[in-house]
Amino acid sequence: MPPDPTRSAVRFAPSPNGLLHLGHAFSALTVDAWARRLDARFLLRIEDTDRARSRPEFVDAIFRDLAWLGLAWEEPVLRQSEHAAAYDAAARRLREMGLLYPCFASRSEIAAAAVPGMVDPDGAPIYPGLHRALAQDDIADRKARGEPYCLRIDMRQALDRMRAKTRGAALTFKEVAADGSHRLVDADPARWGDAVMMRKDGSASYHLAVVVDDARQAISHVTRGLDLFAATDIHRLLQVLLDLSEPAYHHHALISTPDGRKLAKSKGDESLSALRATGETAQSIRSRLGFAINPSI
Ligand code: GLU
Repeated sequence: MPPDPTRSAVRFAPSPNGLLHLGHAFSALTVDAWARRLDARFLLRIEDTDRARSRPEFVDAIFRDLAWLGLAWEEPVLRQSEHAAAYDAAARRLREMGLLYPCFASRSEIAAAAVPGMVDPDGAPIYPGLHRALAQDDIADRKARGEPYCLRIDMRQALDRMRAKTRGAALTFKEVAADGSHRLVDADPARWGDAVMMRKDGSASYHLAVVVDDARQAISHVTRGLDLFAATDIHRLLQVLLDLSEPAYHHHALISTPDGRKLAKSKGDESLSALRATGETAQSIRSRLGFAINPSI
């Protein structure tokens, strides 16, 4: 039977650039809890647009670890690497609105020109506008020479366009709390500056791919960690510009280590597979993270 499009849908959307750890387990179990609460479809999405960092063995490990935790998801799983055409189409629409421009600047050129202290919510320097207004000839010459470039959103123009579309209404998103109550949060996409929409290797950025796929998969409730709370601002902007549906959001607290550090793959935190090898069971992980035992596993 095809999925019922009127049903709520939630998703877990890991990036296969490392092994899942306890923080991911908490996130996936939280998404699953919302699925049960809302009688929603549970979808899994592999966010592998970042070609340099994604590895097939980590995709396999995601399936293994989630199944071990007792989670079940609908098939087929959406793999972003198989949907480049959809992100290209979204980028084309933004370009046709005059909202994207090529940027050839290197990381070090940007760092040298950046205003000290002006950083985006991820702590990266706010793009100092180096190539925002390159002459068409210059762009053509650089492209002819094969200089790699990314596509950035012209934030000021994008905000103007958004205001024209919404007739000046405030940009907000609906944040649902764990108790089910909700509030409207004011979104401030400008704090991201001229963010990258398409990377130099031609792949879509996280921000662009995520809004395209949340709409494509008809996600009604985006459940993810608080580390992505600020990203929602730019997601809302893109949803308005691209006429995409607006989900509700639930950003959950992040799991930290006993010394108060956020769990991160890059710091080599204990993976679920390592915990499994030391004799931890799915039930012990579930109860350690505050979830009920699942009698069916
Ligand atoms: N792929 C992102 C991550 O692993 C999560 C994206 C999202 O939930 O919006 O951090």
